[in-house]
Amino acid sequence: MTVLDMFRLDGQVALVTGVGRGLGQAMAVALAEAGADIAGLYNTRYQDTQTQIETLGRQFLPIQADLQQAGPDELNKVVEQVVDQFDRLDILVNNAGIILRSPAMEYPADDWNAVLNVNLNAAFYLSQAAARVMQGQGKGKIIQIASLLSFQGGIFVPAYAAAKSGLAGLTKALANEWAPLGINVNAIAPGYIATDNTAALQADATRNAAILGRIPVGRWGQPEDLKGLTLYLASSASDYMHGSIINIDGGWLGR
Ligand code: NAP
Repeated sequence: MTVLDMFRLDGQVALVTGVGRGLGQAMAVALAEAGADIAGLYNTRYQDTQTQIETLGRQFLPIQADLQQAGPDELNKVVEQVVDQFDRLDILVNNAGIILRSPAMEYPADDWNAVLNVNLNAAFYLSQAAARVMQGQGKGKIIQIASLLSFQGGIFVPAYAAAKSGLAGLTKALANEWAPLGINVNAIAPGYIATDNTAALQADATRNAAILGRIPVGRWGQPEDLKGLTLYLASSASDYMHGSIINIDGGWLGR
C-alpha cells in the first residue's frame, strides 16, 4: 500500500456530530472526499452539508438529536440508526460544541449543564456506543474535537474549559482501554477558527487585533485547515496514534 492509499476511506462510514456548519461540515466533506459515506448528527441544520456530500457521490444520512438533552439511550439509538443504514461504523467525530460566557462566580447552573452535556457527556456516550460496534469490526477511529482550552483556562468560560479539558482526559482514558481492540482515540485541538462560534470575537475590533497579534501565522484559521489532520486521524495512516491531543492553531500554543 502506498502512503496515499493509506489515506483512502472507500467503503467506510463516518458519524460526524455538528455536521451542518463550521468545522463539522468541513471535516465531513474531507472524509467524503476521501471516500467515506457520512451519517450527520445535527440539531437545527444539515441541508447544505448533505448537498456537498451527495455532490461528491457519497451517501448522507441526517440524524436529528439535541445533545443538550440526549442521554446514553438516545445516543445508542443514533449509532444503531447508522448501523441499520450502512451495516457498519468506522469513524466517529465528536465535533458538536457550544461556548457560553459568564464570570465564574455568577456562572448559571443551566449554562454549566448545557455546556457539559453537549461538549463532554454526549461525546462520551457516543464514543461508548460507537466503540461497541467498532470492537466487533476489530477496527475504528474516534476523533474528539478539543480546544486550546484543553490546555488553557480562558476567561469567563469555566464550563467550556472544564468540558474541553475533560475531553482531553477522556481521550487518553479511552485510548488506554481501546487501543488493544484496534480502536484509535485521538483529539484535535483547534486554535482560533473563523466560524459562527467565533463570530463575536472576529467582530470585536479590539479582541480581534489581540488574537491576531498572538497568532504567529497572523491569520484566523479556516475550517478547511482541519481537513488534512482529520483525514490522517480517520485513516489507517494513523494506526499507531493513540491518546494524542494535537493542536492545530497557527502557532498559538508555542508562544
Ligand atoms: P459552530 O459553527 O457554532 O457549530 C456548532 C455545531 O454544534 C453546529 O453544527 C451545531 O448544530 C452543533 N450543536 C450545538 N448545540 C447542539 C445541540 N444541542 N445538539 C446537537 N448539536 C449541537 O462551531 P464550530 O466553530 O464549528 O465548532 C465546532 C467544534 O469545534 C466545537 O466543539 C467547538 O468547541 C470546537 N472548537 C472551535 C473553535 C473555533 O475557533 N471555531 C476552536 C476550538 C474548538 P446545528 O448547526 O444543527 O445547530
